[in-house]
Amino acid sequence: MTDSSELTPAQIAKAALRRLALARQEPTPENYAQAWAEECGHGRPQVTLPSQAKPLMERMAARLVDAADARDELLKHLLHGDWNEASRVLERAGESSSHQAQALAQVIDRMAKGLERGGKQWTLARKKDSLKRVLDANRSDVQRLTQRLRQLVNSWDDGDQPVEAAADASEHGSAAVPAQAVAPVAPAVVTAWPQVLHPLQHTVRLALPSDQPRAVALADELAALADQIAEQGATAPLARAVAEVCERAGRLLSHRHHLLDQVHVLSQELAGSLAELAEDDSWVQGQLNSLRQRLDERPNARAVQSASTLLAEARLRQRDVRQERNSARLALKELIQRMLHELGELDQHTGRLSDGMQRYMSTIEKADSLESLAGVVREMLDEGREVHGLVSSTRERLNGEHARAVELEERVRELETELRRLSDEVATDALTQIANRRGMMQAFEVEQARMRREGGELSVGLLDIDNFKKLNDSLGHAAGDQALIALAQYVRDALRPIDIVARFGGEEFVVLLPSTPVDEAQKTLTRLQRQMSASLFMHEGKDVLVTFSAGVTAYRFSEALGDALERADEALYEAKRTGKNRTCMA
Ligand code: GH3
Ligand code: MG
Ligand code: MG
Repeated sequence: MTDSSELTPAQIAKAALRRLALARQEPTPENYAQAWAEECGHGRPQVTLPSQAKPLMERMAARLVDAADARDELLKHLLHGDWNEASRVLERAGESSSHQAQALAQVIDRMAKGLERGGKQWTLARKKDSLKRVLDANRSDVQRLTQRLRQLVNSWDDGDQPVEAAADASEHGSAAVPAQAVAPVAPAVVTAWPQVLHPLQHTVRLALPSDQPRAVALADELAALADQIAEQGATAPLARAVAEVCERAGRLLSHRHHLLDQVHVLSQELAGSLAELAEDDSWVQGQLNSLRQRLDERPNARAVQSASTLLAEARLRQRDVRQERNSARLALKELIQRMLHELGELDQHTGRLSDGMQRYMSTIEKADSLESLAGVVREMLDEGREVHGLVSSTRERLNGEHARAVELEERVRELETELRRLSDEVATDALTQIANRRGMMQAFEVEQARMRREGGELSVGLLDIDNFKKLNDSLGHAAGDQALIALAQYVRDALRPIDIVARFGGEEFVVLLPSTPVDEAQKTLTRLQRQMSASLFMHEGKDVLVTFSAGVTAYRFSEALGDALERADEALYEAKRTGKNRTCMA
């Protein structure tokens, strides 16, 4: 600016005209007056307004501009007579209000759908109440109202905390929402964030080990970032922060996978060493070998679970066999001791006999009469008879004891054979009389061959009795066994003859349903569950209610049955998690 104190009015007038030309402004009286004032160093000319003009202008600004800061700016320019600036503010407000209108329309649209939908957590009454509170608290500012409404609908959609709390807090300045959240940017993208982010961060939380504070802190950090992105959109700093947290979580998870591999190797080693330690050809050795085979497969939850069941069972059986063996050994020991004792007694008698013989010999040699000889012979006969009786009764007893020893030995051998037979030959489960794992595999192979020839569908279901441990604990193991028998029979009777029902182990059963689509299989098992709501069997005169949960999946052509069972197991887990006595699909 020129120093006006040294200039003549003509020079100021010339400078004002040049200023207008440079600013490409029209030479209207107002523009010229402003340029003149600026050349003189007075800035904007203060416009003198009549007293009614100010409230009138305030009302006009309030009508035309929604945002409070833009409204204040417009008023300031009007009061200063800064018409160009005022008109620019008005234009900007026009653009922003059309964006706002769009954003508001979209929020109202979502809200209408949200109100129609209703929900468990967000009942219609609760939705209406929260809507009224948001409207009451934000009437004076369209932008803030739009933003609060959007937050409210988001929380309806993902069952979050009601937004009023946040709105109230921000009213007191403690949880101010960043300005970008209000900006009318591509609303469709912004509102989609919570739906994308919440399941993602929920899944990451599930994947991270919940018993490690470091992992829990990572999940919390990610959840906080997800909340921020839901509010502000994916800004570059937030995206960087997410990438950084994900990288740390990735490192932790891959270490976890490594740990899992190590545990798997350790259990393989363990099963191997135990199999080497077990007696050759024993039932335990057979079980441990089959455990090893199972562990050599890809590690999966089912293999690990069945391995530990197998190990526990092996331990119990081993204990039984050991007890039987010990008592047989004890009986043999007693027998030998008795035999030794009796032999000792026999020895004493034969010793006495030979002493007697010596005595008789000398008496006979010295005998001088028939009478005395006859007396000796009578004595000899009596003693001989006594010894003979003792010898034959001892022999009889020894024979008897020997037979018992042979019997006991035979019993131990039978027991071993029975155990071996149970584990690797038989295809029927001894308790429930339905197929066992082996029987199931045989039936599956037949079914697989049929599918190869004729095509068609096969549904695979895994059933697990609910709260079985409680039943065992309250009614006893025998009642538990009865429940297993009754359930196996019930399922067997309820399904078609072509369906395969097998005891998979413990209180788990597998059903293979040929020519059945998976949704049909789910319906069938659900129907079975509803029918079983009546009592399953009687125990000591009382009805016993037993339920089961199930997971079903469609067998995928040529996959291993184990893979299908693993999927069914996931669905079973889901059924347990969501309340039991139901069937889920995977
Ligand atoms: P959930 O509903 O989660 O399945 O609970 P649950 O109690 O059934 O849990 P879990 O599957 O862990 O318990 C299985 C129990 O079944 C443990 C074991 O004592 C018992 N069990 C396994 N095999 C037999 C058996 O042959 N006879 C009896 N009586 N009980 C068995
Ligand atoms: Mg179970
Ligand atoms: Mg169970």
